[in-house]
Amino acid sequence: AAATVTQWTRSTCVYCGVGCQMDVGSRDGKVVAVRPAEHPVNHGHLCVKGRYAFEYNHAPDRVTTPMLRDGDGGAWRAVSWHEALDHAAATLRRIRDQHGADAIGVLGSARATNEENYLAQKFARMVIGTNNVDCCARVCHTPSARALKAMLGTGAATNAFDDIEQARCFLLCGCNPTENHPIVGARIKQAVLKGAALIVVDPRRTELAEYAQIHLAVRPGANVLLFNAMAAAIIEEGLLDQHFVAQRVDGLEEFTAFSRAYAPEAVSGQCGVAAADIRAAARLYASSEPAMCFHGLGMTEHTQGTEGVMALINLALLTGNLGRAGSGINPLRGQNNVQGSAQMGCEPATLTGSQPLAQARARFEAVWGGALPATDGLDLMQMLDGAAAGKVKALWAFGYDVYMSMANQHASELAMRQLECVIVQDLFLNETARAFGTVFFPAASVFERDGTFMNSDRRVQRVRQAVPPPGDARPDWWIIQQLAQRMGHAQGFSFDGPQAVWNEVRAVWPAGAGLSYRRLETESLHWPCPQRDDDAHPGTPILHGDSFAGATRARLAQIPYVATPEQCDREYPFALMTGRGLYHFNAGTMTYRGGNAQLQASDLLDMAPADAARLGLADGVRVRVRSRYGEVELPLRISPRVKPGELFTTFHRPDLHVNRLTSPYRDRLAHTPEYKVTAVCVAPV
Ligand code: SF4
Repeated sequence: AAATVTQWTRSTCVYCGVGCQMDVGSRDGKVVAVRPAEHPVNHGHLCVKGRYAFEYNHAPDRVTTPMLRDGDGGAWRAVSWHEALDHAAATLRRIRDQHGADAIGVLGSARATNEENYLAQKFARMVIGTNNVDCCARVCHTPSARALKAMLGTGAATNAFDDIEQARCFLLCGCNPTENHPIVGARIKQAVLKGAALIVVDPRRTELAEYAQIHLAVRPGANVLLFNAMAAAIIEEGLLDQHFVAQRVDGLEEFTAFSRAYAPEAVSGQCGVAAADIRAAARLYASSEPAMCFHGLGMTEHTQGTEGVMALINLALLTGNLGRAGSGINPLRGQNNVQGSAQMGCEPATLTGSQPLAQARARFEAVWGGALPATDGLDLMQMLDGAAAGKVKALWAFGYDVYMSMANQHASELAMRQLECVIVQDLFLNETARAFGTVFFPAASVFERDGTFMNSDRRVQRVRQAVPPPGDARPDWWIIQQLAQRMGHAQGFSFDGPQAVWNEVRAVWPAGAGLSYRRLETESLHWPCPQRDDDAHPGTPILHGDSFAGATRARLAQIPYVATPEQCDREYPFALMTGRGLYHFNAGTMTYRGGNAQLQASDLLDMAPADAARLGLADGVRVRVRSRYGEVELPLRISPRVKPGELFTTFHRPDLHVNRLTSPYRDRLAHTPEYKVTAVCVAPV
């Protein structure tokens, strides 16, 4: 296909938080090829998703016209933009008048640009008058942002991917980068092959665990115990970076006393990891300078998700692995713009730039020209609780299949059935639209719009339009503005394009003020990048270095371990983990509409060989998986990557509804669902 390309357009991959740069090849208004760009992030490579999974863009079931239907789930009817927008505006106005602004919720998306997420939260706050605005980060990395913000002052990765080759040790926790962040995974693997040490903390024997000096196959849900035990070993064995701790860390004395109860020998049984291995990992991490930590959703999607990340940050503080190249605490974000969607203000308690509502409200009111609601809004989980209680009446979700991706699907279904109005803005009739939608706005894809994304390491990069949207599909920023104008807010929603929106973002977010489109045309910069007179701030690839204003002191967090209520028993003897695989992406909306569907046709249930033999189950048979909350049928894959008593499956196939199984339990602080521990039983179909 590359031979027939008539135009190449430089843009950014939408799929994961690595943010690879790519050239999009088009011909006759269609995307026909993608090739990797030579760039500091991806070094001329793309993975199987970024390179090949673009066929969805021209799939025959792409929705290209606005649609409406009654709340009883009847047939959709195609309508004009005029009719769809008028209907949505009238419905939202009626609900606000009858039930108050807080009866409406808005959900931004990691598949939308920074500019679009910024407009979405501005719409919620200025047009509707509510802080009920959130995004899909709530079900993945909000715990990371919350932990990093609480302990270090900035809720984002501390280091850039550029550092990988400088790390002497990697501590990978609850992440599987060779499948889910493949370009970063490949860079880590290369660094390890060249001599860097590797510690993998994961219940599963992932591909990188094969390369690790130490694999801590922690029991699902025991992360806090394990990191407390590593901290205890570091202190007890005198492995502290004394100079760093003296200069930068508070609370050592109290933390030392706290940590004694978590000595490796005391908690080894509950962790499922030998005490000697915990001590060996602590020594390797503490003695390899610098040591770089990456973590994924195996850390955050637990009842102690936020606290698990805080316990991990303790390790970096104790060993001085902060503020220097090749170190730090680095969440691997699932979708490219997860960092950006929350950073732009799709978050119920913070405004753009993660500025607390109470402190920054006046600054935004001055720029936006109106009063903002003063009280914190509902997060996504609270919105669903509100819907179940009959208090939340309308939801507007774009680029995000809420129903498909939410844990404990039966409860989500009961909640969403209560909604009077569900506006879905996407490329396809996703599961949320099919089951509950009343208004469908056809959105432009990442290949059909301009803007910026913010990848996992705070790098802001341009997204560029390569082809026109089909039919009446429109970019999210256009749709949001049209609806705002219909609701009487022409002022503040009349930008002539993403660049003008971005300039307003720069006006309200000091740490992004230097990121002009002019500079982003040729550079990709990490924030903080404040405006300078010479317009040449270099960006900040490494946070918390000596020169960073926020790098004063941090306090060690005493995190007691609290077991999840979701426990295995005789009836439900297996601990099921869910996650993603190499070939598919989240709810499968994009990757199942193309060649990647042949590479992996179905979600599979991974079971250890010993368990399969004990249950008499052969590879490939269909099994019924039942939890306390629901059941599904899946094909079985016998896999040595999972331990006996544990299971793993992906959740990509919409028709398999893996989230019928997952539990109602949530992170105690950020409310992120506990996708990583569900007690289940398995039987042949
Ligand atoms: Fe896209 Fe991530 Fe693959 Fe890069 S590693 S091509 S950003 S999915």
